[in-house]
Amino acid sequence: MSEEKKYVLVEHEKPWRYEEEGYTVTRGSAWTGPGCHLGCGVLMYTNDEGKLVKVEGDPENPFNKGRLCVRCLDLPEVTNSDKRLLYPMKRDKDKRGKNEFERISWDEALDDIEAKFNEIADSSGPESIVFLQGTGRDIASWISRLAWSFGSPNYGFPLSGLACYLPRVSGMMSTTGSFWVCDCSQQFVDRYDNEQYEVPEVMILWGNNPLISNSDGFFGHWVTDLMKRGMKIITVDPRMTWLGRRAEVNLAIRPGTDAALALGMLNVIINEELYDKEFVDKWCYGFDELCKRVQEYPVEKVANICWLEAEDIRMAARAFGNAKNGCIQWGLAVDMVREALPAIQAIAAIYQICGYIEKPGCMIAPPEILFYGGGFGSDLLTPEQEAKRIGLQKYPLLHHGFATLQADEMMAQMETADPYAIKGAWLQTTNTIACMGADPKRFYNAARNLDIVVCIDLFMTPTIMALADYVLPAATFPERDGIRVGDGPQRGETINKCTSVGECRSDMEINLELGRRFNPSAWPWKDVQEMFSAVYDGTGYDFKGMREIAPAYPQFSYDRHAKGMLRQDGQPGFNTPTGRIELWATQYANADLDPLPYFGEPDPGPTSTPELLNEYPLILTTGARNWGMFHSEHRNIPRLRAMRPDPIIEVHPEAASEYGLKDGDWVWVENQRGRAKRKVQITTVLLNSKYCSTDHAWWYPEGDPEKLFDVFDLNINNSVPWVPGKSGFGSNYKCMLVKLYKVKDGE
Ligand code: SF4
Repeated sequence: MSEEKKYVLVEHEKPWRYEEEGYTVTRGSAWTGPGCHLGCGVLMYTNDEGKLVKVEGDPENPFNKGRLCVRCLDLPEVTNSDKRLLYPMKRDKDKRGKNEFERISWDEALDDIEAKFNEIADSSGPESIVFLQGTGRDIASWISRLAWSFGSPNYGFPLSGLACYLPRVSGMMSTTGSFWVCDCSQQFVDRYDNEQYEVPEVMILWGNNPLISNSDGFFGHWVTDLMKRGMKIITVDPRMTWLGRRAEVNLAIRPGTDAALALGMLNVIINEELYDKEFVDKWCYGFDELCKRVQEYPVEKVANICWLEAEDIRMAARAFGNAKNGCIQWGLAVDMVREALPAIQAIAAIYQICGYIEKPGCMIAPPEILFYGGGFGSDLLTPEQEAKRIGLQKYPLLHHGFATLQADEMMAQMETADPYAIKGAWLQTTNTIACMGADPKRFYNAARNLDIVVCIDLFMTPTIMALADYVLPAATFPERDGIRVGDGPQRGETINKCTSVGECRSDMEINLELGRRFNPSAWPWKDVQEMFSAVYDGTGYDFKGMREIAPAYPQFSYDRHAKGMLRQDGQPGFNTPTGRIELWATQYANADLDPLPYFGEPDPGPTSTPELLNEYPLILTTGARNWGMFHSEHRNIPRLRAMRPDPIIEVHPEAASEYGLKDGDWVWVENQRGRAKRKVQITTVLLNSKYCSTDHAWWYPEGDPEKLFDVFDLNINNSVPWVPGKSGFGSNYKCMLVKLYKVKDGE
């Protein structure tokens, strides 16, 4: 295949690196770490000492067209921070929690880790070491490869129910064989002007505030771009957002009732015959069964469940069902309920039965031209080792999407050693006890008993201080090379090194170096550039070639299901057992799960545990994003911290008055499992006096390291147990019953 046919190229005025007014300018894509993984086009300015001094948006990059968030604009402050980890360190195991690290060389660190991991593998099997990561999309594939080439099937994400993105990925993959995103013209170099493209008539933003979060390959300003071109929006959010104010209707849903709302909308769309009959007949499986199921969810009943007006639900369903084209952009809120999978299935069925699939301005499956995060190297495991993957026997849907362990099972196995003991942990890009791990003390107590813990990160964190025996300093993205992987259309993009800090090494260099010590044949490359070039094999480019032309856009066309482009066998249809979109999910039935979508009440919750309401009268949602932070990152960056100096809990004025709270009061947010400290902000963005909302992932970098930066006073996940949904996916991070009371002096 010729290069010209494989990619459509952006016309650049200048090469990927050039000189301008005394600076060297390096063009590239933004990625983790720190923070984001969206891949916006950046221009990075370094001075004659090689120091990063300025970052600007690349106006030639069609993805973000020159626009950047404050986190990228402030990148020099992050990269050059005097708080960075600059060299490898070690600490005696019996000094975990003490600020008594000792500087060592890279050789010593890697020699020690290699020897200790191999010793554990020899005595207990390689599966007894878990390899865990947080976010960090272009790093993910190398972490998983490290685990698998070592012989451990236990790579994964340490959060209950894998409740971040993975439920959506698994839900989509197991019912349609593909991964679906809103068509915002992101697959075209000329974007909205492309002659194939049509603006969606309606977009539903479901549990997502993309202007701030910019999550999972979706740049928030595409929404406003499309609104300027006539697109209407519907929002589903218990908080009023800037976009919600501009929506046709905002459905201020009771947190955790998304599945009920989706089933109610399906009830309207099906009973009023607003769906696409031809598409359903030809391409969907199980429509009759779905019709029967949605009759259990009449709109009035759903309005009662969701604390909404029935007419608003009808209006949203009709606006979407009557549109010529439309799409649904969803966020973490749908992953972070315990029965996430049926919620995801119900929401997806809305656009599926409307036939908004593979058409302009609808939902599209990205071309799989490059490998996905978590999928590169799974063939390195023997079937015997793969069968030992934690949770796989209990939760067979782990076969679909990312090949990860199941985190709640891992948590239990760390405590019980059943069916085998966990002896060590490799924690790369995860600040588990401050960020997304549930019940952080439980993880902390279990991990303190491990024989070895290795942490790889940019800054000191509560997790490193609490647990690490070895600390390896990682590079921010301007300090490293990389390539795009992950969600969305698979553009050819490169992350380009333009500066260096201390002895920091890129995550991939660390993985390559250690990987080839464990298993040289699995890591045959002399350096990371050669390793990335291997991924581009077959595209006509190597890493350096791609760097010259990036971003490069794969050829794209619509209707790929009809052209046989979505199935592995090249036949028309979808990559599922029935060859159709499965509204009745074969894979769920095979896993002894209900094959149809349903609503499961949050538990605890006002309906499932009314006896708790007297003690815990408010419904708490967590994790709404704010501009300067990414999960637990950036609290040690002065300008970004200034945008959000304190951990805030938003409280409705009526609730504040009822509980005698005023703006600025410090309160404990507590449920029957635990509590966390927050500062009250009284606000009417909460659309029901029973709702409150708080930031997640707080710790005080300025705090005492040996008190773990106050993390156990601040982590809102003290209130979240390790309990997943029936499928192993989903957990109640975003719908808890809580009470608020003032912090006493000295607490
Ligand atoms: S979305 Fe914002 S933080 Fe993320 S890469 Fe783009 S500009 Fe950077």
